[in-house]
Amino acid sequence: MDSGPKLHEFRRKLLRWFDENARDLPWRRSRDPYAIWVSEIMLQQTRVAAVLEHYTRFMERFPKLHNLAAAKEQEVLAYWSGLGYYRRARLLHKAAQFVAREMGGSLPQTATELRALPGVGEYTCAAIASIGFGEAVACVDGNVERVVRRLRGWNEASGTQAMVRAAAARLLDENRPGDFNQAMMELGATVCVPRLPQCLVCPVRETCATRGEHAAAERKAMRSKEAAYAFLRRASRARAMEVLLEHRPASASLMPGMWELPAIDASHAVEENKVLTLRHSITDTNYYVTVHELNAKQQKGLPKRRAKREWFAVRELDTVPVTGLTRKVLKRLRAWPGFEAQ
Ligand code: SF4
Repeated sequence: MDSGPKLHEFRRKLLRWFDENARDLPWRRSRDPYAIWVSEIMLQQTRVAAVLEHYTRFMERFPKLHNLAAAKEQEVLAYWSGLGYYRRARLLHKAAQFVAREMGGSLPQTATELRALPGVGEYTCAAIASIGFGEAVACVDGNVERVVRRLRGWNEASGTQAMVRAAAARLLDENRPGDFNQAMMELGATVCVPRLPQCLVCPVRETCATRGEHAAAERKAMRSKEAAYAFLRRASRARAMEVLLEHRPASASLMPGMWELPAIDASHAVEENKVLTLRHSITDTNYYVTVHELNAKQQKGLPKRRAKREWFAVRELDTVPVTGLTRKVLKRLRAWPGFEAQ
């Protein structure tokens, strides 16, 4: 299928399917390379549903690259709160400042030049260059890799990454590279899914060598950890509810500089004051978390830490860079903007 009528037919069928079936996602309504860049960074290792919750609000606050470059990092993190992998937000912010300072505020137009930006990898460069600038360069993310492997009949052992990339480049439609790349990603996300691919409705099944799944590599087992946090609230002078949060040190390996509920030890984490139990997954670890409501007197007995603690008005929490776990807990406890107890 590397050349000739079969390849032509493959591209035609895939693009027609994409034109008729593509999901209406907010970042697809724009060809602005900056908007595509933001969406691609948000989508890394994150579900589309979670990105949908954050993308529009982020773009309303930072509609152009210079708005993002001029913002304080704390505010960028606040708008990222809940998406996780905060290093992405920091690198995006730094790269925007780099473009504003060193490149006159305009993104470079080719995948090769885009690699000069901090934190922008090969896949993201190809996505920005092909969708935003029409450069004929193939994007290979996890979805595309799976589609190519199945089209060719290559499992993990019989097809190397280099073979997959070369095959993706040969398949690319040079007349509509941005749409073609998005079509391959969309096929992988909605039809050629990891488990139970929907081959019967697949637009390219006639040229597919697999028409099904390859045996999956063994999944890494998840680790389990337990953690306990304190929930302290009070009414401010203006009778607005406030909650106590703790600042993660800048030297922390995970989520430095973010705010979270104060962590507590077993002496405070007793059954009588437990208000919530939940599971929260970060990479390969499941955290089994309990949250305990403490009163003002118990606050004095909180473990001594070098980290600072501060009271925050609940109605302003969505402008504070809090961790995803704390955000989840505060929403469940109705101590988050729009979720407050009546
Ligand atoms: S026929 Fe099945 S396995 Fe092949 S590309 Fe389509 S969905 Fe994937």
